[in-house]
Formats: sequence, structure tokens, C-alpha cells
Amino acid sequence: MRPILELFPEELPGEGFRKAQIAHWLYAKGALEFSEMTDLPKALREALGREWRLSEFALVEAYPSRDGSVKYLFTLLDGQRTEAVYMPYENRKTVCLSSMVGCPAGCAFCATGAMGFGRNLTAAEILSQLLAIAHHQGLSPREIRNVVLMGMGEPLLNLGNVLKAVRIMLHKKALAMSPRRITLSTVGIPKGIYRLAEEDLGVRLALSLHAPDDETRKRIIPTAHRYPIAEILEAVRHYYAKTKRRVTLEYTLLKGMNDDPWQARLLAKLLKGLSAHVNLIPFNPWEGAPVEGTPRAGILAFAEELRRLGVPTSIRWSRGQDVGAACGQLALKVPKPLLTPLPEGAGR
Ligand code: SAH
Ligand code: SF4
Repeated sequence: MRPILELFPEELPGEGFRKAQIAHWLYAKGALEFSEMTDLPKALREALGREWRLSEFALVEAYPSRDGSVKYLFTLLDGQRTEAVYMPYENRKTVCLSSMVGCPAGCAFCATGAMGFGRNLTAAEILSQLLAIAHHQGLSPREIRNVVLMGMGEPLLNLGNVLKAVRIMLHKKALAMSPRRITLSTVGIPKGIYRLAEEDLGVRLALSLHAPDDETRKRIIPTAHRYPIAEILEAVRHYYAKTKRRVTLEYTLLKGMNDDPWQARLLAKLLKGLSAHVNLIPFNPWEGAPVEGTPRAGILAFAEELRRLGVPTSIRWSRGQDVGAACGQLALKVPKPLLTPLPEGAGR
């Protein structure tokens, strides 16, 4: 059986109006079985079910956080597992999707990097994460308006599959998403950034810089040995020039490594003329991490220094920490069961 989610709406089986009906069931109604598609003749539903599959998962497990986000653990059809996170904040329903099982980049501060590389996800597996989350949340897939590819994996090292999934998200007859609401986050693979600029889909790019100097960057990001900061920023400048999309720079603050005021000053200097926005990420701890996060006061001071130098800066206080759903915590760890508070008056 082949995954039907790999098909663009115009490639779906049947005549024009059948294609439109199937696309509507998949992307507006979020059907996970052909038997749900009740306005198709029964024989056709059965024929479709013999040839195509709708879901890429053998098992979907959900772990709700106290703060409203939900971590999803997916068992793929070959038994490998990956994760995604649902974040329903401020009326902006957002999903954080994975592009791989694990990650080959091996960044020192990232739990996904520490688990190594499993495999690339297919376009259908990337899209299926969004559809499964919508289904579980009782939403139409089209109600999910924001996608960040910030889960497991490096999207620019699986660009073919990621681009296909993104094109289906953007397609008017599929998820009809706005490109401005799709963000690809990369550790900095220049070739991938140039290709993304060529594709010119209008999606947002976030660069995980984490250090303003190559020496520090090499200590925390193995791919920094291959790609110097200057080369990455040149690619980012090209992306901005070509797409006019302002790039976000992500910077996870690690104690004693990249959080000194001179590094804030060097960062501000590097970003001159780039029209970039800096997103500081407090480090999310995980078991066995070889690094520590910068304490709160240090984070605020680093942000202040950047702002003083005219760099638009925000701090992304993470959500979902209690279930291991925060940035960089995705490593297939099943969270401890939540302690439910005792009901009012209990134990008296
Ligand atoms: N591979 C891509 C996207 C996935 S990681 C990338 O590296 O950009 C998404 C974001 O989480 C990146 O900015 C990454 O640096 C950050 N991150 C990884 N581990 C983290 C941790 N333990 N605490 C905080 N942020 C982390
Ligand atoms: Fe991979 Fe991104 Fe984690 Fe680095 S931070 S190991 S690139 S997922």
C-alpha cells in the first residue's frame, strides 16, 4: 500500500470532482479512514483502501503538559518512533513537527542530537503528524494555522521530503496554509538555505546560531567545523534578499559558554544590516546533558545588552517541560505520570 498523503490534490485518484472530494475529506475533515468518506460510492472506498493508506502510524500516544501543550509520541509503521508537540496558545494553534527520527548533527545541548540518527521521515510522515494531532484535538486540520519544523531532526538535511510536505501544507486544496506561518529551523546548512531561497515558497527561516564566534560554536555544534559562521550568514543574507522574509536567529544560552557580554556585543555586530530578530532560548535540561543553562538573571542581562545595541530580541520561555516537550527535549522519553492534585477537602 502506498501513502495517499504523498500525492498533491491534483494527483489524487479518480476524476476531478472525486479528487476534490477526497482532498476535502483528508484536509478539511481530517478523515483517517476511507470508510468515513461517506459521499464516495462504497466500492470506491473499498478499492481506495486496498491501494492506499491514510495514516503512517502504528500507535499515537499523547502526553498533556500542565501548561496546555501536548507531546505526541508516534510509532511509525517500521517500529521507529518520532515526536511532535501541540501548542494551543493565544488562539494560535501551533504544531512543532519532526523531520527525522533522531538527528545526525549531534549538538551538545540537544537531547535529540544525543540519541543519534534513526532515519529521515517521508513527506507523508511529516504531514501525518499534523493530521494525527488535529484528529486527537477534535479539530479540522485546517484549523492548525502555524507549523514550526523544530522537532526532531535537521529539516535542511531532509529537504526533498520537507519541501514536499510544505508544498502540500500550502496547497489551496490541501491545508491552504499561509507561508508566513510555516517556519523551518536549521542548524545552518548553507547549501540547504540557498536551495530554500531558490524554491521561494515564502516560508520563514530560523537559524540556530548559538554563538557569535566559530571557536565557541564548534564546541557545541559539530557541523560548525564544516560551515563557518560567515558562510552561513552569507546564505542567510541571500535568503533575506531573495525572499524579503526576516530571518530569526535562535540562541540557546549555555552557562559559561556563549552567555558573556562580549558575545552579545559580537553578535550585535555580526547582525548589522541583516534585519534579523534574535530569539533567546533558555536551556531546557535533560538527563545526562553535558551542559548547563544560563541562570535567569544572565538571560535577562544578555537580552538587555542586545537590545541596548539595537537588536530586536525576545526570550522564548519554554513550555511543556514537565512532559519533555520543550525545545531540545525530544528524545522519546515517556514522561512520568502527572501527579494529580488532591480534590478540595481531601485528606482532612
Ligand atoms: N535541527 C533544527 C531544528 C530542531 S531543534 C535546529 O537545530 O534548528 C529546534 C531548536 O531547539 C533549535 O534552535 C535548537 O538549537 C534548540 N534546542 C535544542 N536543544 C535545546 C535545549 N536543550 N534547550 C533549549 N533549546 C534547545
Ligand atoms: Fe539536530 Fe537541531 Fe538538535 Fe542540533 S539542535 S542535534 S541540528 S535537532
